[in-house]
Amino acid sequence: MSDPIRHITVVGGGTAGWMSAVYLGVHLNRRSQTPPIKITLIESPNVKTVGVGEATVPSMMQWLQYLGIDEAEFITRCNASFKLAVRFRHWDKDPKTGKPLSYINPFDGIGDDIWGFNPAYHFHKFGAEGDRTHYGEYQSPMGDLIDNYRGPRLIDKGSYERTVNYAYHLDAGLFAQFLMEIGTACGVEHIRDDVVEVQLDEQGFVDSLQLKEGGRHPVELVIDCTGFRGVIIQQALGVEFESYDKYLLNDRALAVQLPHQDPTKLEPVTTSTALGAGWSWRVPLYSRIGTGYVFSSKFRSDDEATEEFLKHLGPEGKNAEPRAIGMRVGRSKKVWEKNCIAIGLSSGFIEPLESTAIFMIDMALQWLTDYFPDKSYSPALQNRFNKRMQELNYEIRDFIVLHYCTSNRDDTPYWRAASNDLQVPDGLQEDLDVFRHALPGGEEMERGHLFSYLTYVIVLFGKGYFDNASFGASHLVTRGDWNGYQKWLGDLKGMLVKKLPDHYTLLNSIRASAGAAQRDMGNSDGNIL
Ligand SMILES: Cc1cc2nc3c(=O)[nH]c(=O)nc-3n(C[C@H](O)[C@H](O)[C@H](O)COP(=O)(O)OP(=O)(O)OC[C@H]3O[C@@H](n4cnc5c(N)ncnc54)[C@H](O)[C@@H]3O)c2cc1C
Repeated sequence: MSDPIRHITVVGGGTAGWMSAVYLGVHLNRRSQTPPIKITLIESPNVKTVGVGEATVPSMMQWLQYLGIDEAEFITRCNASFKLAVRFRHWDKDPKTGKPLSYINPFDGIGDDIWGFNPAYHFHKFGAEGDRTHYGEYQSPMGDLIDNYRGPRLIDKGSYERTVNYAYHLDAGLFAQFLMEIGTACGVEHIRDDVVEVQLDEQGFVDSLQLKEGGRHPVELVIDCTGFRGVIIQQALGVEFESYDKYLLNDRALAVQLPHQDPTKLEPVTTSTALGAGWSWRVPLYSRIGTGYVFSSKFRSDDEATEEFLKHLGPEGKNAEPRAIGMRVGRSKKVWEKNCIAIGLSSGFIEPLESTAIFMIDMALQWLTDYFPDKSYSPALQNRFNKRMQELNYEIRDFIVLHYCTSNRDDTPYWRAASNDLQVPDGLQEDLDVFRHALPGGEEMERGHLFSYLTYVIVLFGKGYFDNASFGASHLVTRGDWNGYQKWLGDLKGMLVKKLPDHYTLLNSIRASAGAAQRDMGNSDGNIL
């Protein structure tokens, strides 16, 4: 007879901890006929959360919606804004002029087929009309919408409706606070205390946590959300950590918040600008701008990086005092060990170039509920969960490596090292070799959890990877088809720019409606917790 888990302890009160407590509380108890699973969250009053992590990917929308969270309330409480794309500035240079290049990686493209061929073949052969010379901007309306400060849906449309796909920028501190309120209202027990010792039983399972003030806290299933420290998964259970330093250089970040110069000009895009030893992010929230510099300590000290970063910010960063954050880049070789599952930074981290860490928390929670154990903690479930997390981790790592290994920047020692000296994972190299001769198609990228073939095409076009490539399929596509497609594309983009509202105006209208909608945290006949 199966012995069910009745109590889950989450350690850590950052984004990962509160996302875990709320998601598990809602999902596991939504239809339960038995007494609900008790959720306890323990968070240190002394160890701060990492305090960054403010850009997301589109699946965030489904995550919030699944939990029954009203979008207007979320947007208002977390000072969220909409994000339509990631913009890459100066990651590459024009091989002829040496001038820096920019491109976007949009969340929505239009049309992925012209008579059975990827339109990218036509673009490669015939080029583009007008001033949108990069594929990511050309085949998607997002570049036009960003330049015109547009939001992703009409003013009179409701929560989660979209004319074009979107993600959010959010205030990480407010988001954790928002989730904490939802969690505690639903019955999550919230303890502010330090875990000072992790006690194991004779089989090596976590038996209890010793709290500084509260004494012994017995555990059944424990979720380690203690950030880079990995207090349980690494420190207590000794799971090995696989560093990615042979693939990626960056290991530190500076972060700071800036006021808007003009809040009405709210760009719906995360911008990543390559600097001398890494890159700077810029995340425009409704209320402020979050910005920072991800860099390599091999090429910049904190002081040197600060100087370079402030110079990059210019007058906007006049009184800014960035704080430094160490980044442990890589993954825990197992994220589920015994009765402990690591979620968030404790499970691993890849630099935030494509804003993927919150998505990884979301996926870990979905897989945890897919493979939810009883107290036998079946090794088969653990293995499957660990395999899924490893696949996802490697997929994201490879996509991030792609941005460096195909860069043609060579103006600083960092960029020469980043594009030439580092290892390229085998799977990625194999893909890149194929893409020299055939553009990635639908099936090619089906294995991915996050990055579609379109994303690969866009980034590689943006980086000039296809400039001298020749494709067998190029002989099979026609200008007539391309002209027709371009006309249709142009009309559609023009219509969207005309119809969609200003981003700031849309947010104000959503904020005005917040509070009107009631949060529906479950089904009509069940308690959540
Ligand atoms: C520079 C940078 C930029 C980033 N940008 C993005 C982005 O744009 N998008 C994205 O998705 N992600 C981003 N991330 C990642 C994102 O910040 C994290 O994934 C997210 O915040 C989750 O962090 P966490 O909850 O795992 O850890 P933390 O926020 O570090 O929280 C750890 C928690 O554990 C608690 N704790 C630690 N030790 C103990 C103890 N002994 N006892 C009790 N409690 C303890 C702490 O008090 C804290 O509450 C970024 C990360 C960095 C470093």
